[in-house]
Amino acid sequence: MKRTSRDIRTSNRYQVLRQFIAHSPASRQELAAATGLSSATVATLVGELVELGLVTEVGFVDSGGGRPRGLVALNTEGGALVGVDIAETYVHVELFDLGLNVVARSEERVRPGARGPEEVVALVVAGVHAVTAELADGHRVLGVGVSVPGQVDREGGLSVYAPNWDWHDVPLLDALSGQLAHPLYLDNPLHACTAAELWFGAARGRSDAVVVNLGTGVGAGLALGGALHRGVSNSAGEWGHTTLVLDGRRCHCGGRGCVETYVGAPGIMRSLRELHPDSALSRSGDDQTAAIDALARAVADGDPVAVATLGHTARYLGAALANLVNLLNPEVIILSSWVAARLGEPLLDAVREAVARHALRRPLAATEIVLSPIPTDPVCLGAATFALEGALTHVRTPLARSRR
Ligand SMILES: [Zn+2]
Repeated sequence: MKRTSRDIRTSNRYQVLRQFIAHSPASRQELAAATGLSSATVATLVGELVELGLVTEVGFVDSGGGRPRGLVALNTEGGALVGVDIAETYVHVELFDLGLNVVARSEERVRPGARGPEEVVALVVAGVHAVTAELADGHRVLGVGVSVPGQVDREGGLSVYAPNWDWHDVPLLDALSGQLAHPLYLDNPLHACTAAELWFGAARGRSDAVVVNLGTGVGAGLALGGALHRGVSNSAGEWGHTTLVLDGRRCHCGGRGCVETYVGAPGIMRSLRELHPDSALSRSGDDQTAAIDALARAVADGDPVAVATLGHTARYLGAALANLVNLLNPEVIILSSWVAARLGEPLLDAVREAVARHALRRPLAATEIVLSPIPTDPVCLGAATFALEGALTHVRTPLARSRR
């Protein structure tokens, strides 16, 4: 897609604000040096951010003989952001200040067997009310970012397909906007995690990064040229449904041999049952979280079955990641989401070795593979950055749709 001058202005605005979030206060000269933007561009962008109340002038610093330099700082009180992580089993809602620090959080369980959107909408509304109730008078909410699993039509505010609940074209944003007065932004966890890494994690300041989501579902969020790559219909990153094994395991997407069926939590547990049917680890029942936790503990204890299962999983994951290395030549691959967090360093080590067996030498040499450094729920954080990006994008577009 052609980048318009407005896209470039918006992306420059993100860059400057990201810099403030990382290092505040800063002088315009420091910002220009850190972002590579011209002094004139930085001065204009800082002016816009001051006008929006997102940053404030906080004084001067001596510049060693020359004119004193004005210092500008992030105005953490300048607005609040809400991030919502709708998952299959819970709804997390977090309230952030402008430094993207968590100020309040709420967690609601989704009733097992719940299917209808009404129940999920009610949980989101209750969560948003709960966290915003803690805001002092006069503090404004700049927006609410909502992440829902599956395919999402961002512009239309639709959950196009959520496999776990069998939702098709659910008008989620309309249902929420009837009950919430804030600007709302909808996307999926894959894109939210990638935004979180771009703003705060291992993709910050990197040009090309892949954020691999390893959970129940699997995907690869792409940050290309320093920006989230959504694709033409917001579906980019569905790497979990690329074919890894011809005529392999059946997948809920209708395909066979998808990456997800081998390296998602249910796929890992299936490998364990197939390879070691007699192991106690194979009999952990339907609770995926408990099963992966038990596997991680057994790996730490040196249990040979657990170590072999981890190695088996890493072989598949490594081959699939090597395809991304060869295809995209990224600077960094970030392993994110709960399965990666729980299996941690042992998985990382095994995956690095497996990728090295499959990837071409030149792109491999340029690619770092790391675990996500984000300590909190990256989906809430990423969803909140969608609200922040919305506030920054609409600076000069008064006709942008506003929801009451
Ligand atoms: Zn699939």
